[in-house]
Amino acid sequence: MSRQAVTASRINNSLLSLDRWFQRQKRVLPWRSEPTLYRVWVSEIMLQQTQVVTVLPYFERFMNRFPTVESLAQASESAVVEAWAGLGYYSRARNLHRGAKQIVERGFPQSREGWIEIPGVGPYTAGAITSIALGLVEPILDGNVERVLSRSLGWSRTVGDTRFKTRLWKWSGLVVRRAHALGVSPSSLNQALMELGALVCTFRNPRCGDCPVSSTCVALAQGKAEAFPGKKAAKEWIRIEEVRHAWVFEDGSGKRMILARRQRSGEWRAGLWDFPAEKPGVGHAREIGEVRTRHVVTRHKIERLTQIWRVRSMEVPQPHPSGDEWEWTELASPSLAGSSSFQKTWKAVVAYLEK
Ligand code: SF4
Repeated sequence: MSRQAVTASRINNSLLSLDRWFQRQKRVLPWRSEPTLYRVWVSEIMLQQTQVVTVLPYFERFMNRFPTVESLAQASESAVVEAWAGLGYYSRARNLHRGAKQIVERGFPQSREGWIEIPGVGPYTAGAITSIALGLVEPILDGNVERVLSRSLGWSRTVGDTRFKTRLWKWSGLVVRRAHALGVSPSSLNQALMELGALVCTFRNPRCGDCPVSSTCVALAQGKAEAFPGKKAAKEWIRIEEVRHAWVFEDGSGKRMILARRQRSGEWRAGLWDFPAEKPGVGHAREIGEVRTRHVVTRHKIERLTQIWRVRSMEVPQPHPSGDEWEWTELASPSLAGSSSFQKTWKAVVAYLEK
């Protein structure tokens, strides 16, 4: 038998072994037990930048609130953002909402190209949705799959990130086609690659002894699994300095209320509640202190100074011409969906007032 034939047969065996491993070890997940287009789409958007264990309770709550794409499309944007509160990266929620409206008008896309036209869906997400929910022979490449493929092939990012990714996308396409020819569904193969990266071929301390593709893994054979895929170029941070104002009203019974403003459409973190940038009016308030907080949101490092004011009445600032939403909420238990910056500032204000 030629060397090429031996290599091809070893790769085939690895793919079949990976599929058997997945059938035995796969986690029971709500979008796996009922992989409709709607559920797989929502789960894949939630899983962008977020781990499975964090997504699970949000997914269940979201599905209870918006069980169909029609119910999601009919909801207000603020209701969708509110259901998302705490999961971060809120543009995902707004994109889902816009995507639901498109789908209700035109129907669910039935191809990878069709899904890429839906807001928030890129090549990876389109490949995942179409392979898992439609069984199409489409490749995927996310961080987990990138790690598994780069280690098993011994390909490093040091060749340049674009070249590295292009090669891996091609290989991901090749393995899904080859596995399909062997009788392994694209849904199983792609999810097996993701699962292997999440559970076995982890960033640190990969469990090569439990790995179904160890017999063909180049990184393992070279004794340097963790050296792949190689370091990414350092992130470029955007530094932002913000000033916010905590308007605190205390009623006669000792109950404290704070004023929150909902970020307008077009503003960063739109739809979420936050402390206002507006100061209370002169004569209406007395400054009693300030707190400083730091937040990291994607590529932004935010330094926030929040001045704390004791106000005499529960007034609100002059409305902005494009319309504002203001709400007084109890400091002890705010009932509003706020960004992570709001949560962090709120905790710092509470700690300051309780000193
Ligand atoms: Fe990853 Fe180790 Fe498996 Fe190679 S053998 S794919 S390094 S877990």
